[in-house]
Amino acid sequence: MTLLSVQSLHASYRTEAYGISRTVRAVDGVSFDLFPNEIYGVAGESSCGKTTLIKVISGNIKPPLKAIEGSVNYNFGDYKADMLKISQDELRRSIRWKQISYVMQGSMSVLNPVRKVIKTFEDIVDTHEGITNRNKFLERMRTHINRLGLPTDVLNAYPHQLSGGMRQRVAIALATVFQPALIIADEPTTALDVVVQRGVLHMIKDIQATSKNTVLLVTHDMAVHANVADRVMIMYAGRIAEEAPTEIIFNAPLHPYTQHLINSLPMIGEKSMKASLKGSPPNLADPPTGCRFHPRCPYVMDECRTVVPDLVSVKERHRVACHLVKEGSL
Ligand code: SF4
Repeated sequence: MTLLSVQSLHASYRTEAYGISRTVRAVDGVSFDLFPNEIYGVAGESSCGKTTLIKVISGNIKPPLKAIEGSVNYNFGDYKADMLKISQDELRRSIRWKQISYVMQGSMSVLNPVRKVIKTFEDIVDTHEGITNRNKFLERMRTHINRLGLPTDVLNAYPHQLSGGMRQRVAIALATVFQPALIIADEPTTALDVVVQRGVLHMIKDIQATSKNTVLLVTHDMAVHANVADRVMIMYAGRIAEEAPTEIIFNAPLHPYTQHLINSLPMIGEKSMKASLKGSPPNLADPPTGCRFHPRCPYVMDECRTVVPDLVSVKERHRVACHLVKEGSL
């Protein structure tokens, strides 16, 4: 069963500056599936379209963002949803928090700084389920918090009384209160130091292993994907460059951009400088023709400058968009 099917998705922003209007094609022809019971990583540098992609698949489509083409379909078993057609009312009533929840980088954006943590839980549960018996609600929240390895004291704390790592764990507890089918985690550990980061990643992994739900983990940090993800999609300039099981992405990447990302990871004991990639990511209001990576690619050929490479399957569950790689070649 497929939990989410995204087909040929194009999403763009309309910008106006000095009287000139431009279209920024942030997501350009992206197709992928998410399955139940997996952690799917989305990687790529800033402005590669990761954030736009998760806005569209979570139904957060507001001007200046426009989803202009393609399809985004969920199958939650007895309930199916077309994300590009669903009303905001149905999204609020049936999908957000219950089927899809969101963990973002700054936990303070979901925790009200002037209310105790339990009040935020109460607001969410009351809005989506209604609370008829407060004692039962409190017991349920204590059980939930304990099951995730957090002390019940956090429920009676104000957010500023908790460390950054603990606040992020509380935000994850909040996102999982209804056992959603999909948790979208957007750079959930970026603002945390390495030790705290490890604890938060363990928590995400444990929740997924216990609940058997799906986690879409978006981060530029390849080390996080190496530790947590089952499969990884590498995005470059709004398109998928490569998608494969994590082991293949790290041990046998085929796309030159993925190879660069992996080769630039620091290794213990290595003292030499890593080679950097020439140039910078393209302006998506005026992207390069052909393969968008061609101005930076060390293997660029003539056809790369004019012909967009198809995303082909080199073998089961491994797709690459590069003229050097042929369909079914592995
Ligand atoms: Fe490099 Fe050409 Fe492959 Fe693009 S299609 S990654 S420019 S070799």
